[in-house]
Amino acid sequence: MNTYEYLLNDINTIKGIGPKLSKLFRKKNINTIFDLIWSIPRDTTDRTNLVKINELQIGKIQTITVDVIKYNFPRIRNLPNKVFCEDETGKIECVFFNSFEGYIKKILPINSRVTISGKISYYNKKYQITNPSYISEKSDSIKKVFSKYSLTEGLTEKKYNIIINEVLNSLPDLNEWLSNDILKKFNYISWKKSIIELHNPYNINKKGNFLNRLIFDEIISNFLINSKIRRGIKKIKKIKKNFDNKEYLKIKKKFGFELTSDQNTAVEQINKDLKSNQKMFRLLQGDVGSGKTIVALIASANVISSGFQVCLMAPTEILAKQHYTLTKKLFDAHINIGLLTSKTERNERNNILKNLINNKINILIGTHSLFQEKIKYNKLGLIIIDEQHKFGVKQRKKLSDKGGKNCDVLVMSATPIPRTMLMTIYGDMDTSIIKNKPRNRKEIKTYSKLDSKTDEVVKFVKKQIDEKNQVFWVCPLIEESKKVDHQSSVKRYEFLKKIFKNRVGLLHGALDKEEKNNILLNFLNKKIDILVSTTVIEVGIDFPSANIIIIENANKFGLSQLHQLRGRVGRGDKESYCILMFKSNLSQNAKKRINILKKTTDGFKISEEDMKLRGYGDLLGFKQSGLQSFRLADPVLNEDLFLLAEKEVKKIELENQDLNKYMTLLKLYDRADILNDIV
Ligand code: ADP
Ligand code: MG
Repeated sequence: MNTYEYLLNDINTIKGIGPKLSKLFRKKNINTIFDLIWSIPRDTTDRTNLVKINELQIGKIQTITVDVIKYNFPRIRNLPNKVFCEDETGKIECVFFNSFEGYIKKILPINSRVTISGKISYYNKKYQITNPSYISEKSDSIKKVFSKYSLTEGLTEKKYNIIINEVLNSLPDLNEWLSNDILKKFNYISWKKSIIELHNPYNINKKGNFLNRLIFDEIISNFLINSKIRRGIKKIKKIKKNFDNKEYLKIKKKFGFELTSDQNTAVEQINKDLKSNQKMFRLLQGDVGSGKTIVALIASANVISSGFQVCLMAPTEILAKQHYTLTKKLFDAHINIGLLTSKTERNERNNILKNLINNKINILIGTHSLFQEKIKYNKLGLIIIDEQHKFGVKQRKKLSDKGGKNCDVLVMSATPIPRTMLMTIYGDMDTSIIKNKPRNRKEIKTYSKLDSKTDEVVKFVKKQIDEKNQVFWVCPLIEESKKVDHQSSVKRYEFLKKIFKNRVGLLHGALDKEEKNNILLNFLNKKIDILVSTTVIEVGIDFPSANIIIIENANKFGLSQLHQLRGRVGRGDKESYCILMFKSNLSQNAKKRINILKKTTDGFKISEEDMKLRGYGDLLGFKQSGLQSFRLADPVLNEDLFLLAEKEVKKIELENQDLNKYMTLLKLYDRADILNDIV
């Protein structure tokens, strides 16, 4: 067969895979031939070294050529069958559990000379090989390096190698999808040849054109889909939004600070999009505290003054309320603002819905659940969604469709990520990035402390509370178990309550929404001074008087996570502190991380360092993103290939190339379903 369809066949179509084996493969999530070729060997077994029996090393896998001398088939349950073999230097027994006599006689005929390979053991003063799976009359078929795959019981290395070889021999010659210019960079190696090289035991852990080509394939398939979506959305023609800077100047007077240069640039980029006849689909990315909200509100005011409505969605009710309060404060009195959350009473709710249809509400603020609801607007012109990084490509596309053709979309994200990741995860959107922080920000003083010095930390906290400051106390994340985390935070809470009486609150995952909100409000309204919690301190909420964060077991967190946690403080103009606590003496790695945190508050730099230390998979919340489908590509290690793919996709866009050429790639790499949704 000469098409890709062979690769999508079920594994049970492979010669040598029956129901039993296919069950084992399915357990490893290998269902199709394509899945199977991505089970990549990570190691090899070297069976090339042929030795004499008197040179055998116990515990090692070794290969010997011997004569078969005698059988011993005891015919008693649980006693193994044995075959005695020898060469001119010594004797060895082959021990078989659960093998039939007939089979043994066939593979080890008496008086024959055979080559055997297996792990050598020593029992009763005799060398043994138990259940040898490599036996042959021709030593050449064994004296090889074999790829080591991830095995399970019932699936031997030998069998795996045979199956993989069967598949590699049947790989179709696919029509090339890469352009000549790109192929040249990989020395014209084809996809098929690359896959074969990937499984070659002599290539394990080696780099080369075969690997680069396959990595490039993965990246470009991702980028092409992103590009297709972006282009599709750009094609939608909308009514231009007409506005001047009057509304902006009015609210500028009220917020009373100068925008940073990055904020200004973002506002300009957004304004240009709003005024154009192409639908806006833009990501506003900026570190925690970089001031994204004000940019979003300026955009909202402009859209409203052009006669359209705005919908602003926040991830939590408190945050929605905070946005609402700020909007009320900044916007001109003639602008009508609605707040719709799960707490909104029925009457009020009906009122809001009615006023939305009548165009009496100009901006509706609520939680992400607004997205799910059937709310009818009169003239929706802008959807803003705040603090999300869990929306995948498909959901964002849906968001864009939902608003209708005249509705622009602005997505805000507070997770700084390196460019290669940005291109992968948000490649379907245009991006505005706020890098520099407002100038009045004070650096957060970051310290590390041993657990045994908790007393000193408590003393410090006491002093701070006396000065009317507030404290986040983040509890150890011991393991991936909510229960254990919960226990540790309860313990800390009880401990602190003895010292600070009823000025301490506890926030944990087991609380329901209502309770959680109450505690957060108590903290916000300064009814409590210390908020003890496990990792999740609500994203994005401004707690202006919280200027101290204590993080226990800090070594359990990644750099980016520590940075995000630290970003909860230092939002006002007071001196802020972050205290990282550790159980015992710090490891080299932990020291490195603390030093990075002490040195910089630049989230982009920190996330890059984090990726270098831990790999991109661990970066905050990106597990469900487009990255998850990468089997080989790594945004840190393969930066050059990401940039190359970006350039190639730009060229494809510029020349308006037909994507048909890439269809095989997209189908194989499991992205065509997204494509079907989109075209
Ligand atoms: P985030 O980007 O994390 O959403 P916010 O929009 O909540 O950040 O802004 C954090 C704080 O910084 C707010 O209190 C806001 O008023 C303030 N802020 C925003 N921009 C500026 C600026 N240019 N100068 C001074 N303060 C600013
Ligand atoms: Mg925010």
